[in-house]
Amino acid sequence: MTKKQFKAESKRLLEMMINSIYTQKEIFLRELISNASDAIDKMYYKALTDETITFNQDDYYIKVITDKENRTLTISDTGIGMTKDDLETNLGTIAKSGSLAFKNENELKDGHDIIGQFGVGFYSAFMVADVVTVISKAVGSDEAYKWESDGADGYTLEETTKDSVGTEITIKVKENTEDEKYDEYLEDYRLKSIIKKYSDFIRYPIKMDVTQK
Ligand code: ADP
Ligand code: MG
Repeated sequence: MTKKQFKAESKRLLEMMINSIYTQKEIFLRELISNASDAIDKMYYKALTDETITFNQDDYYIKVITDKENRTLTISDTGIGMTKDDLETNLGTIAKSGSLAFKNENELKDGHDIIGQFGVGFYSAFMVADVVTVISKAVGSDEAYKWESDGADGYTLEETTKDSVGTEITIKVKENTEDEKYDEYLEDYRLKSIIKKYSDFIRYPIKMDVTQK
C-alpha cells in the first residue's frame, strides 16, 4: 500500500502540535468528541430532509473505550460517517479547524489561555498518539474505509468492513517518557474528568465502557 503525504502546511502544523509547547495535551479528547457530536448533528439535519432516515435519539451517541493491554483509546460515534473522499480531504489536510489561526496567534502572543480558545482539531490526537486509526462508514454507503497515520509524514487509506454507519477513531497511546505521562489517557477516571471539564455541554450521551476490549 502506498503512503500518501500530508500537504506541506499540514506537515508543519503537525510537527508543531506533536512537539509542541502546547501543554494541555488533554484537549485532544475535547476535539474528538466535538467532531463526533458535529457528525451526529449532520445526521440529524440530514434526517430532516431525507425521508429514508429516521433520527431516533437513542441510536445516536458517542462512546469512549479504553484498552489498557493494547494501550488504545477509541472514540466512536454513530454520526454521518466519512466516505473515502471525505477521509482523504478532511483528514489529509489541515484547513478548516482554525489550526492555522491558532498557530499564528500563538506566535504573536504565546499564552496558554489563548491557545485553549481555539479548536485545534483532529490532528491534536497526535499529541498523545503514536498511531491514529480512523474507520468510517458514510451514510448511504456500503463501503467502509480505514485511514491510518503515525503523524510523521503521511497516511494510508484502504477498504475495510464496518457494520454500522459512523466513525471509530482509535488512538494508540504513546508510552510514558521521563517528561510526559501518557498512561493517564487510558484511565477511566481521568478521561471522565476531561470529558466533564470540556464536553459537559455535548447534547448526545457519552458512554464509557472500560470492561470492553
Ligand atoms: P473542524 O472540526 O474544525 O472542521 P477538525 O480538524 O476537527 O476540524 O476535523 C476536520 C474534518 O474532519 C471535519 O470538519 C469533518 O468533516 C471530518 N471529521 C472529523 N471527525 C469526524 C467524525 N467523527 N465523523 C465525521 N467526520 C469527521
Ligand atoms: Mg473539530
